[in-house]
Amino acid sequence: MDKLAIVVPCYNEEEVLKIASEALRGVLDDLVRKEKISADSFILFVNDGSKDRTWELIEEEHSTYPVQVCGVKLAGNVGHQYALTAGLITAMEMSDVTISIDADLQDDINVIEDMIDKFHEGNDIVYGVRKERKTDTFFKRTTAQAFYKLMKLMGVKTVYNHADFRLMSKRAVEQFSKYRESNLFIRGMIPLIGYQTDSVYYDRKERVAGESKYPLKKMLALAFNGISSFSIKPISMIMGMGLFIVFISVLAAVYALISYATGHVVQGWTSLILSIWFLGGLQLLAIGLVGQYIGKIYIEVKQRPRFNIEKVLSPEE
Ligand code: UDP
Ligand code: MG
Repeated sequence: MDKLAIVVPCYNEEEVLKIASEALRGVLDDLVRKEKISADSFILFVNDGSKDRTWELIEEEHSTYPVQVCGVKLAGNVGHQYALTAGLITAMEMSDVTISIDADLQDDINVIEDMIDKFHEGNDIVYGVRKERKTDTFFKRTTAQAFYKLMKLMGVKTVYNHADFRLMSKRAVEQFSKYRESNLFIRGMIPLIGYQTDSVYYDRKERVAGESKYPLKKMLALAFNGISSFSIKPISMIMGMGLFIVFISVLAAVYALISYATGHVVQGWTSLILSIWFLGGLQLLAIGLVGQYIGKIYIEVKQRPRFNIEKVLSPEE
């Protein structure tokens, strides 16, 4: 039977830790009873340099439930995406399948069973997707949706309304661990892995306790990181704009020369207006061109895996 690890990043979550532990242990017990996962499946809490008693609580839980509750302590606060990656890579060595979920239980733990079922049907990655955003404020809902649209426009493959609640098989996490980039935007990286995937749908709830650790500033940083780590389209757009302005400068030239010939102009205007348009366009074009090279360098330095071989049929004796 498969051993499940539920990975939970925690930053200053003393108010929710025990609640989360109890709820998730309940899920594990239930799945073990239904013989869907092995009895040594466990929860892995990742303490992301919390300033409160989060780590002490994790230690307490571990001594009470030495098999079911485990922990990873990061030496300092590195942020949700890094804490989650640390947890997944640690869990990869210790389990057959992982599920990542936030500590605040906003994601519905009742769909974990569906995720496991889909895993047993042969999916390596199962995305948890929010049905609606009823509980989010109007502001959070519209900004988030604008963000998903913008990502799509920029050519970044992401799953609409999916955050970081997902199941990944051991081999999917192993492939993920080969992405050695430092600017992490996990939900953009997972679709690059490949393999058969599926989704489960759920309603996102309010936080059980405590407050959000994702203020607007962190949200904007994540959004910008998502685009700038996956797309060099902005550079191509600059180049396109440069080309467009050079084209406009030709029209401007025709207009300026006609005005000059018909004599409706102040002295010096024609040469000035021609230079402005042409040089402006040329400069943008040149910046865009240099940018294209930088974009290539940026893709090279990431050293991402270029493919993921799932199977080879080799000749048999
Ligand atoms: N988190 C973390 N490190 C941070 C910030 C957040 O590990 O620096 C964790 C946090 O404990 C929670 C998850 O990331 O488990 C999501 O954070 P939160 O629920 O505050 O975000 P929101 O749901 O409000 O977007
Ligand atoms: Mg939350």
